[in-house]
Amino acid sequence: MGNPRKGLEKPSPSEFSEWFDNVIREAQVYDYGRYPVKGTGVWMPYGFSIRRRVTDLIRSILDDAGHEEVLFPMLIPEDLLVKEEEHIKGFRDEVYWVTHGGLEELDVKYALRPTSETSISFMESLWLSSYKQLPKLYYQIVSIFRYETKATRAMIRLREVTTFKEAHTAHATFEDADRQVKEAVGLYSKIFDSLGIPYTIQKRPDWDKFAGALYTIAFDTIMPDGKTLQIGTVHHLGQSFSKALDVKIQLPNEENDYVWQTSYGISDRIIASLIAIHGDKRGLKLPYSIAPIQVILVPIPGKSDEENEAVKRHVDRVMERLKQCGVRARVDWRDELTPGRKFYEWEQKGVPIRLEIGPREARENTVFMARRDTLEKRTIPLEMLCETLEQEGKSIDESLKEKAWSWMRERITRCHNLEEARESLASKRGIVEVPWCGKASCGLRMEEETEGKTLGSPIRVEEAEWARGAKCPVCGAPAVTTMRLAKSY
Ligand code: ZN
Repeated sequence: MGNPRKGLEKPSPSEFSEWFDNVIREAQVYDYGRYPVKGTGVWMPYGFSIRRRVTDLIRSILDDAGHEEVLFPMLIPEDLLVKEEEHIKGFRDEVYWVTHGGLEELDVKYALRPTSETSISFMESLWLSSYKQLPKLYYQIVSIFRYETKATRAMIRLREVTTFKEAHTAHATFEDADRQVKEAVGLYSKIFDSLGIPYTIQKRPDWDKFAGALYTIAFDTIMPDGKTLQIGTVHHLGQSFSKALDVKIQLPNEENDYVWQTSYGISDRIIASLIAIHGDKRGLKLPYSIAPIQVILVPIPGKSDEENEAVKRHVDRVMERLKQCGVRARVDWRDELTPGRKFYEWEQKGVPIRLEIGPREARENTVFMARRDTLEKRTIPLEMLCETLEQEGKSIDESLKEKAWSWMRERITRCHNLEEARESLASKRGIVEVPWCGKASCGLRMEEETEGKTLGSPIRVEEAEWARGAKCPVCGAPAVTTMRLAKSY
């Protein structure tokens, strides 16, 4: 027998890309690169059910925090999209245009939405008239389209992003929008925490903020290849869109002013990181709380019809029990496959717990349980099943989260000079932190010298505390914060 723990290791940095493509295909999550439109993929039934669990989680957290779900048209007329100057400058090269209706050329062409600040602001100009209606917190989960010219990647760099959760909020004051940004950062932390996805939070440098925003806060995670992936952004939009689209309200002092807005987005990348960060060489490893199938039952055939009948009756009893305690479970009755083959498939799909039920379990009124994340196995009496699964489920989620965080933290390196930073990014990748004086010219120079991308400065000041008193390695001035740099997607 080989090492029973074999396959529990992460793919190495050089294996990651191929591993990811294989695992989403083999586990039937997402069929990418075969549909004849570049940069688009197909959510297959199992993948769709994972995606639905994730969108349900996002919805419940946003709904609980006072957001309202809406659904706006996918088409945005050109004259609307171009109203905010900075915004269109940022997106011009990436917009898909609908130019014809049937055989006729349209008078005004339509953009396939790249994001919805302009269309939502337009309707807000009709809906909002008084501060009494504010704050307004809207969101939608929709497809957006961007004509990506860089190499496209399944779930990571797409031309059609199918799971774009965009929230758009309107406020009476700058400060209230500022508070909303903090609130959104808290909500996003909660969403990623629920999935065990580790992240760093930073304010993007001015040269890399969202087109049209006052400032942008971003969540980044580190993928197994050591490159960072932006998994969420929160923007303070100021009044740039409300001025461009005339979203005016009456204030308590009866004067009129434009509303202050924020927007924040999460995309398919949340699912890409869920798969990439927890997975191992055997395939996916889903947290118990989010798994569409939490428990898979694999019947083990007996030596006689009588034994097989007993197994069947016991499986039914176990399923009945699982139903009572609200566990999402399924039985794999397929005759054509051996139990071993079934184990392999469900491990690949990341089902957190497997129960093996054979003649012995039927006789003893037990189940034989195996955990996907650790491969630990043990026998559980049927009467203990519900409470055991509840404990194991919690333990799986905590363990996945803890391992993911410690793996990521090991890849954040503090450097006092740029040579060291460049070397660290070249050899171990991850994130480097460098003391920074705050000047744009120094930040841009860091990018050049380290051959990394500037992610920005931590929003929690204590995370930059270590650099206090250090010198900016570019200009020698005292650092006021740190700059995070990485090789990024
Ligand atoms: Zn400097």
